[in-house]
Amino acid sequence: MNVADSQRVGSSLEHLGYTLTETIEEADVIVLNTCVVRQSAEDKAMGRVTSLAPLKKKNPNLVINVMGCMVGVRGAEKMRERLPFVDVFSPPSDPGPLISHLTQGQVRSMEDAETTRRFLMMDNELILPVAEQNKLISAHVPIVYGCSHACTFCIIPSKRGGERSRPVGDIVAEVRSLARQGVKEITLLGQIVDRYGKDIPDTLTGTRGPNLAALLHVLHEVEGIERFRFLTSHPNYFDDDLIEAIAELPRVMPHIELPIQAGDDEVLVNMKRGYTQQQYRDIIAKIRARIPDCSIATDIIVGFPGETEEQFMETYRVLSDLKLDVAHLARYSLREGTVATRKMEDNVPEEDKLRRLHMLDDLQEQIVDEINKKYLGQKVDVLFEEKVKGRWRGRTPTNKLVFVESEDDLRGKVLPVTVTWTGPWSMQAQLQRQPELISL
Ligand code: SF4
Repeated sequence: MNVADSQRVGSSLEHLGYTLTETIEEADVIVLNTCVVRQSAEDKAMGRVTSLAPLKKKNPNLVINVMGCMVGVRGAEKMRERLPFVDVFSPPSDPGPLISHLTQGQVRSMEDAETTRRFLMMDNELILPVAEQNKLISAHVPIVYGCSHACTFCIIPSKRGGERSRPVGDIVAEVRSLARQGVKEITLLGQIVDRYGKDIPDTLTGTRGPNLAALLHVLHEVEGIERFRFLTSHPNYFDDDLIEAIAELPRVMPHIELPIQAGDDEVLVNMKRGYTQQQYRDIIAKIRARIPDCSIATDIIVGFPGETEEQFMETYRVLSDLKLDVAHLARYSLREGTVATRKMEDNVPEEDKLRRLHMLDDLQEQIVDEINKKYLGQKVDVLFEEKVKGRWRGRTPTNKLVFVESEDDLRGKVLPVTVTWTGPWSMQAQLQRQPELISL
């Protein structure tokens, strides 16, 4: 989400005539876009902001903008007291305050930051920063901002605010403009992306607005985009419409990010996730029945307050049984401002958290190694993004990382390859001979 937000800031600044510099001392404007999902990330961001103070002292005309979750939707006033050398504070996903600051006078008649942002974004046509135009193959497009869930370990709702879905027209306009600039793959973003549209009432009928499946059908018609993905989903909202859309639409990739967070029902209740282990298993079974080649990723937190060894083993068993393609693993840590930190005791010893993490890590490595071995000798279509250390890097529809040696320019092309080697984290492949080469 922050990468997408930063692109929008870069785009707006270039629209005002600024250019990117690699050297911080040369900058007229510094934007620090922050993530504070963990306390350690917030500490790091704060250290980085503080390190900018001497630059401001040397150059009082320098504009420093702190953006993102460290500011949050309501935190600007508090931050101003703590960091008096910072000129502008912007909430997540909103370049408006910075643009207003830089254009004071020019847009004085515009009433609010949102109007300014819309003006600069040219009615949701996103013009990528120059450095990325016709180079960026895969772009992120936020479709739902904020989150109205209340997972007890999570700071995001209080930082990014309640759920707000973007109108379909805005999203389509943005995706079209990205297609015109050479983007081939779009990843739709939301904290709970499968809740897209649930906050938009249909003004004519009074019923609910569009859902993610309907949005995917509309976007599928945009010419030039080869692949669509979306993340992150929530098990409670992953409905039949969405499963059908993935199964039916060839350019919607069979890859799903569906966090379980824990495999024990009591821990899930304590986390306020809103589903049981069995319900999660049922959704995976349903997805696999309709989309057998679908790859599925999950997120897991180990060592949540009160998690016993037995409860952890429930998580271990779920992961072992379901054999998912990716598991993003995290150790629970205190996060000021969350319900878990306020009301629960962080009582799982660090060495137990670490051991549990390693157990899942080892298990997952074996699982994914086995899954990837099935690709050996198979033909798959790969979308190539860039050349890294002499090899082209791309991804399969199931989001597996593939490297291919070729002297040709493969950037932005979807080409069939044969997989020649597999490991848990990547694969190697050879380009399949093209028909015209065979006939020669
Ligand atoms: S669903 Fe839960 S974990 Fe995800 S952003 Fe919302 S509150 Fe946080």
